[in-house]
Amino acid sequence: MNNDTLVNRRITLAARPHGRPAPQDFRLETRPAPVPGDGQVLLRTLYLSLDPYMRNLMDEVGPGYAPSVALGETMVGGTVGRVVQSRNPQFQAGQLVLANAGWQDYSLSDGADLLPLDGMAQPSLALGGLGMPGFTAYVGLLDIGQPRPGETVVVAAATGAVGAVVGQLAKLRGARVVGIAGGADKCRHAVEKLGFDLCLDRHEARLDERLAAACPAGIDIYFENVGGDVLDAVLPLLNIGARVPVCGFIAHYNQASPSTASDRLPKLLATVLQKRIRMQGFIILDHYAERFTDFRKEMAEWVAQGQVRLREDVVDGLEQAPAAFAGLLEGKNFGKLVVRVADE
Ligand code: NDP
Repeated sequence: MNNDTLVNRRITLAARPHGRPAPQDFRLETRPAPVPGDGQVLLRTLYLSLDPYMRNLMDEVGPGYAPSVALGETMVGGTVGRVVQSRNPQFQAGQLVLANAGWQDYSLSDGADLLPLDGMAQPSLALGGLGMPGFTAYVGLLDIGQPRPGETVVVAAATGAVGAVVGQLAKLRGARVVGIAGGADKCRHAVEKLGFDLCLDRHEARLDERLAAACPAGIDIYFENVGGDVLDAVLPLLNIGARVPVCGFIAHYNQASPSTASDRLPKLLATVLQKRIRMQGFIILDHYAERFTDFRKEMAEWVAQGQVRLREDVVDGLEQAPAAFAGLLEGKNFGKLVVRVADE
């Protein structure tokens, strides 16, 4: 194939956001598609995953986390792509792969970070329940939370990529599951389609009172996705010995400085101490070598048997990614947010 005519659109980080990411923090650039060298493949992006961690990488990040996106560089992100040219004997043109191509149409890879997805009926799920977010729920809930039958599990962002899987896996382990989500439609979905016992709308008043009523036996596992008002409502309800896998705190990602929430600290520390809480942060990248094979096998079976249901929120067009991403940080997505960059 002659790729003189192939044009690569890419979205770069133009400025570090102050608060909510704004359109001017991104730049859409157009360039000729890159040409694969010896050992490389040229990938066409079909789906781009939009995930909350990208907001953190738009800031200057300290050591111990994934590196920040440099100004002027392509925004990072997981992708599903098709090999359009291959100079790597392990990949053939036409193959579907999971990749890390970022927010762009075409990219090069030496193959080391690619996972073949051949035969997958709905390849975009490799970015959601069958991929990183589903794996996050699996490790965070099963390995860290360790739910037991009859325990009460609470999870917010309950219809999102991670939360929806957390709640369904907790049900499979025999727990009672209370979700928290933004809006009546999401709450109905959590109960009627995902099988949660209850789901509370975080936009309605008195979340603390409604959560207390929903958890008469207290909370044994709080899967922390959001922080903020939800954490305030959860803290007084945690049982002695409760487990809190700390997965994320999206309510604070757009805050200029996390210190604005420091008045919560004494209450948090008192609860951790007095209730003997086991609170454990985790970064899913650390767990691939040990657990990803088990996860893929088990989750594929649960999904095939209808025991775990996965909902996607698909947005069309790479150019829509900045607005869709800003919406994700405010709860506009309903299900795993994915951008369809090109037709399969
Ligand atoms: P989601 O698909 O759940 O989308 C984000 C959701 O967060 C929104 O839809 C919204 O849901 C909720 N939300 C947004 N703003 C607020 C707010 N101010 N207060 C409460 N809820 C809010 O995203 P993911 O499932 O991909 O991610 C969920 C969490 O998991 C995030 O914190 C993310 O950073 C974390 N994560 C951590 C990983 C790790 O390795 N530790 C890996 C992957 C994800 P609603 O409107 O329904 O409330």
